[in-house]
Amino acid sequence: HAPRRGDDRAVDTHCPYCSLQCGMGLVPAPDRPTRVAVTERVAFPVNRGALCGKGRTAPALLASGARLTTPLVRRSPGGPLEEADWDEALARVAEGLSRTREQHGADAVGVFGGGGLTNEKAYLLGKFARLVLGTSQIDYNGRFCMSSAAAAGNKAFGLDRGLPFPLADVARTDCVILVGSNPAETMPPALRYFTDMRQRGGKLIVVDPRRTRTAEQADLHLAPRPGTDLALALGMLHLIVAEGRTDEEYIAERTTGWPAARAAAMAHWPELVERITGVPVPQLREAVRYFCEARSAMVLTARGPEQQAKGTDTVGAWINLTLATGRAGRPLSGYGCLTGQGNGQGGREHGQKADQLPGYRSLTDPAARAHVAEVWGVDPDSLPGPGRSAYELLDALGRDVRSLLLLGSNPVVSAPRAAHVEERIRALDFLAVCDVVLSETAELADVVLPVAQWAEETGTMTNLEGRVLLRRRAVTPPPGVRSDLEVLNSLATRLGWEKGFPTDAEEAFAELRRASAGGKADYSGITYRRIAEEDGVFWPCPESPDGPRHPGTPRLFLDRFATPDGRARFADVTHRASAEEPDEEYPLLLTTGRVLAQYQSGAQTRRVPTLNSAAPGAFVQLHPLLAERVGVQDGDPVAVTSRRGRAVAPAKVSRDIRPDTVFMPFHWAGEGRANTLTNPALDPTSRMPEFKVCAVRVERADD
Ligand code: SF4
Repeated sequence: HAPRRGDDRAVDTHCPYCSLQCGMGLVPAPDRPTRVAVTERVAFPVNRGALCGKGRTAPALLASGARLTTPLVRRSPGGPLEEADWDEALARVAEGLSRTREQHGADAVGVFGGGGLTNEKAYLLGKFARLVLGTSQIDYNGRFCMSSAAAAGNKAFGLDRGLPFPLADVARTDCVILVGSNPAETMPPALRYFTDMRQRGGKLIVVDPRRTRTAEQADLHLAPRPGTDLALALGMLHLIVAEGRTDEEYIAERTTGWPAARAAAMAHWPELVERITGVPVPQLREAVRYFCEARSAMVLTARGPEQQAKGTDTVGAWINLTLATGRAGRPLSGYGCLTGQGNGQGGREHGQKADQLPGYRSLTDPAARAHVAEVWGVDPDSLPGPGRSAYELLDALGRDVRSLLLLGSNPVVSAPRAAHVEERIRALDFLAVCDVVLSETAELADVVLPVAQWAEETGTMTNLEGRVLLRRRAVTPPPGVRSDLEVLNSLATRLGWEKGFPTDAEEAFAELRRASAGGKADYSGITYRRIAEEDGVFWPCPESPDGPRHPGTPRLFLDRFATPDGRARFADVTHRASAEEPDEEYPLLLTTGRVLAQYQSGAQTRRVPTLNSAAPGAFVQLHPLLAERVGVQDGDPVAVTSRRGRAVAPAKVSRDIRPDTVFMPFHWAGEGRANTLTNPALDPTSRMPEFKVCAVRVERADD
């Protein structure tokens, strides 16, 4: 699957998977348009032609035999899904949603979106829910991804953009603390930036309970007990203060809230932090030395600190390090989040979140409601208020929320406490799913609508840097398949929205630009043409009709933060236990994550033969000491049990994990489904579930 060098016939587009959104060229074979060759797009600056195995094999999705090309309907309760024409399928969806609305009210209809949807789809899905269905009950799977980093970034800086600087800055900084992130497996082409930084003499510190492929390359690996990295950050801040390494001038000029943050850190002395985290004091001191002695330095977080019931505070504690040392808002320095899903950034800006309107506006802000209502041509008072967050919405299915329209997500595999979520989905009066394949969630639907995928349609994505990209159509979708935009338009008109919705992506983007104008994530100055000419445009990029063209904003916060007074806010946070700590019955900790050859719920990658043979199923990673205690050897079936259920998978015995912790990747359904075990305890601010830590017991599966 090695990509070829550039080809004049190639259509420039982007990978269907993660937030790096690697550029690639696609060349369809003239005789068989679904046979597509990948070519290197070396001019695209983020990946310069490099792709991981997922990106290289992505064309297999276009020709997959698992592809849905006909709508499916369930004509009788409990009956099979049967083929239908589009007219019948759309009529059933419109009828299912309207019946619920008439019988139980608009808020009994739910909408669930995804962080992989294009900006245009995310925007129109929010508009569809609030205008056509009149429901407040819309949220999306990005709530499970980076919502804690978004909440902490908004609190600290007044604005959340994954990276407030281009990824290329990583190669030029002098120290990076990478917290709970494993780019060597999740986004391998990004590793080049860290390697370049180290080759220049920079230091890479990795914080992860496991010795991952990324941790192997670090200058220093800190392996805290899962759920304790908030204490680790406080311990580092304690040492920074105690060793006189704070930047007092910066603190005075550019921040507020330092006395409380300082006091919290001083209550976390190194020996206490060692007891909580298991990280030895000398390692803590070494990390502080690397971070503070570097001329420039960054802290980058990912799902590790974020997917906790105290995720917002944990990220806040890591941001505090960048404020106390005068790093945030300085060149080649600061805090950033490595977003996960393909449009994890854009997906959270345009209104598919329960509490949000386009332009990253708050649904409770009267001025924001008035602006968006004007673009939509409706009365602001007709817009519903905030709804439930993703897990709370899923938990309400079959009870308060009785019908659901779902796009771009597979919560039967990816939601926490997944067996319960599956039960709630089965209890719905009506479920409609738009998908490319028959995912585990689509299997439960009353109607499945087969939709176009990445290279078959045009749309914009916003990568982890806040760079808005154009994912171009390179091949024609198979007959029988329609785009999500066409589906939303058809449903809108059937449900009485006579004006309909745009079905052309560029037209939808023009409306999105107007809706975002003046908001935090202002796209109004970005056009498809500019994206194509400039290899992406960084938001905010306001339109300037009378002045020179706004260049976009690759680097944020250099002069001031986006708070009302321009100052960053220290987080006033203190360590606390995870929602579930080990006890006699469940004496170990489970943490979950990803592997190189699979992506998210695996709905796509499990159907790509090369990837599936590289990573065919779940496993339980455990330390040899624990394996001996449990009496298992490598490959033996292991049962992992939590208060929510039991999962079984082969043992992977490895010294790369703490003896008090087991790890499972979460890409699979069936008995190896890791999310059967995970805890839906929610962060009070971000409503992020605690995927990264829960109490379990482990035994041989045949005992
Ligand atoms: Fe695709 Fe991400 Fe791999 Fe790049 S790193 S090829 S965007 S999955």
